[in-house]
Amino acid sequence: MERIAQAARRAGRSPDEVHLVVVVKAQPIERIRAVVEAGARDLGENYPEQALPKMQALAAEPPVRWHMIGHLQRRKAKLVVQHFHMMHSVDRPEIAYRLERLLAQAGRRLPVLLEFNVGGEAQKHGWPAWDERQWPALADAIAPLLELPHLQVQGLMTVPPWREDPNEVRPFFRRLRRLRDVFARRFPRLPWTHLSMGMSHDFEVAIEEGATFVRVGSAILGPRPK
Ligand SMILES: *Cc1c(COP(=O)(O)O)cnc(C)c1O
Repeated sequence: MERIAQAARRAGRSPDEVHLVVVVKAQPIERIRAVVEAGARDLGENYPEQALPKMQALAAEPPVRWHMIGHLQRRKAKLVVQHFHMMHSVDRPEIAYRLERLLAQAGRRLPVLLEFNVGGEAQKHGWPAWDERQWPALADAIAPLLELPHLQVQGLMTVPPWREDPNEVRPFFRRLRRLRDVFARRFPRLPWTHLSMGMSHDFEVAIEEGATFVRVGSAILGPRPK
């Protein structure tokens, strides 16, 4: 939290604008319980079915909000609708429409972020956003999703390429922020508040570039057990 606050102040931002999601994927329950006892209230998980036993084990602890941050398979969408507070990784129309249908049935709305691939790596998920000449077409592509009544689109998310020097990730974070600004001008009706970017290795650079959510796992909980 201290490092988050310092990075925010370096960028002339208020530390309150930056929310920490503690990523607990593949971590044993004792460590997760310890981090909740230490004050964490937002936990991130990549696989909804792996979050469920953790949710049950933590039932007696202070309430936490669960954030879905990984690529979601169609058949797991219902778990997100039932158990998660927010979905950071809406990475294709198919999953947006699937969530919309399930949310309508459940009678709830879900805050979501749209995921973009800003580095052009083939193995990364999200709409292709590395070539800025494609951004007008990208805006056309997401426009219908912004009309879905049960999806509350609140911003953008990315998992940029890994670089030894976190400063070299900066251009990717900056690209996501500029894309957000383009969408905010094109679709002013929506609050493009959030940028979910930055992990253990590079979250301070992400905050300097405007992150409102950082998703930090191993820097807090230690390496994930194999
Ligand atoms: C695993 C993961 C994180 C956290 O990674 P660390 O390097 O452990 O901080 C953040 N975001 C996503 C999407 C992840 O899959």
